[in-house]
Amino acid sequence: MNTQLTLKQCSDLLQHKKTSAVELAQTYLSAIEQKNPSINAYITLDKEKTLNDARIADERLANGSGSLLTGVPIAYKDIFCHQGWRSACSSKMLDNFISPYTATVVQNLVNEGMVTLGRANMDEFAMGSTTESSFYGITRNPWKTEHLPGGSSGGSAAVVAARLAPCALGSDTGGSIRQPASHCGITGLKPTYGVVSRFGMVAYASSFDQAGPMAQTAEDCALLLNAMAGFDPNDSTSVEREKEDYTRELNQLLNGVKIGLPKEYFGEGCETEVQKNIQNVIELLKKLGVEFIDISLPNTELSIPAYYVLACAEASTNLSRFDGVRYGYRTSEYKDLEEMYCKTRAEGFGEEVKRRIMIGTYVLSHGYYDAYYVKAQKLRRMIAQDFQNAFAQCDAILTPVAPTAAPLLGSISSDPVQMYLSDIYTLSLNLAGLPGLSTPAGFTANGLPVGVQLIGNHFNEAKLLNIAHQIQQNSDWHCRKPD
Ligand code: GLN
Repeated sequence: MNTQLTLKQCSDLLQHKKTSAVELAQTYLSAIEQKNPSINAYITLDKEKTLNDARIADERLANGSGSLLTGVPIAYKDIFCHQGWRSACSSKMLDNFISPYTATVVQNLVNEGMVTLGRANMDEFAMGSTTESSFYGITRNPWKTEHLPGGSSGGSAAVVAARLAPCALGSDTGGSIRQPASHCGITGLKPTYGVVSRFGMVAYASSFDQAGPMAQTAEDCALLLNAMAGFDPNDSTSVEREKEDYTRELNQLLNGVKIGLPKEYFGEGCETEVQKNIQNVIELLKKLGVEFIDISLPNTELSIPAYYVLACAEASTNLSRFDGVRYGYRTSEYKDLEEMYCKTRAEGFGEEVKRRIMIGTYVLSHGYYDAYYVKAQKLRRMIAQDFQNAFAQCDAILTPVAPTAAPLLGSISSDPVQMYLSDIYTLSLNLAGLPGLSTPAGFTANGLPVGVQLIGNHFNEAKLLNIAHQIQQNSDWHCRKPD
């Protein structure tokens, strides 16, 4: 037994009784014990809970009440509330918070009988692109430990890349699933806004946030999304529509599929090594029958200012609930209520989170609301319209995920503006509520993975997953793993 398995392979072994959920869980737990200290991707483990999940899964597999996912191990980003687990969002503010309830997406996977391995590190409150702002320390990239894993779901990406979990959940507000997936050489999907429930996922920017699957393959992501997705009355923006099977298009030929290449995504600013790898994927897809056309998404540049105004505005209101009154951190000494609030928030939040609360409060304040917030909302609409114009000409859009491969630790988080600029290729589809995924596209000369992004129109996840699946059937980038 080893931990090189995909979700599908774990499932096959369990279904054919070639292993048990307990044996599988134990194998992963000992690999975690050995390798996690060098990358710090898991921040909370609970052996007893994990083995208990596995025992229940084995009972279900024995009595025939299981499903394809029963007994398969998974890691959860620290952003999801999970009953009985510390659910800290990698913040000092929630360090003492043991969740009394479970997020809907997690509950859906628990109901399938999946086995929780532990909680994956992230940027504090999902604000960042590096996984360096966590209260629990930085996570390192398993490919090269002096590089960062990307973020904010860097822990989730790193555990899958290091083969310390066959799959994980992440969340994506402006790229936090796709960018770390790209930097760690795995597959990650951000669904259409409203496809998966946000209930129980700590809110950063509610009109952007979506949870999504991260795994070695597109097929695994499709299997996870099948179980995660669905209407949830507890989330007012959850979309009420018929259940779909996200694996249904896998294995469809790509003959005649039209993919757009937006010129704004291939200009200067994107490293040539990244461009070269993307070009290889384009050539591969051409051989599979894909037709490429040049398109334009003219307002791409505006996505950074629009996103950072709106996301900070939403963050500043969402995070006002952390006041030291009902749960979470409270400062130890204070004279009155006012001082309790101030000291609690000053001590409980990290630097980046405070920066965003201040920006958000500023753009929502009287006198600046029209100049910033309302204007950003208008830009959001224009950016969404650009995509609709593009999808009148093509079935999907292909772009880089990030302008560079994984940067060195410490090299971008010291300059927030530079960090924000590195989100240029991922933000705009969150503004438009569209689905997007990242799939491996090759490596730099230095041996770091590079990802390619596929963007679809609303509810076109199955199509994107098949394009990624076809790339994976005809290449081996997704199979390679760090030494
Ligand atoms: N890097 C972006 C930000 O810091 C996106 C983060 C995310 O998707 N959670 O806002």
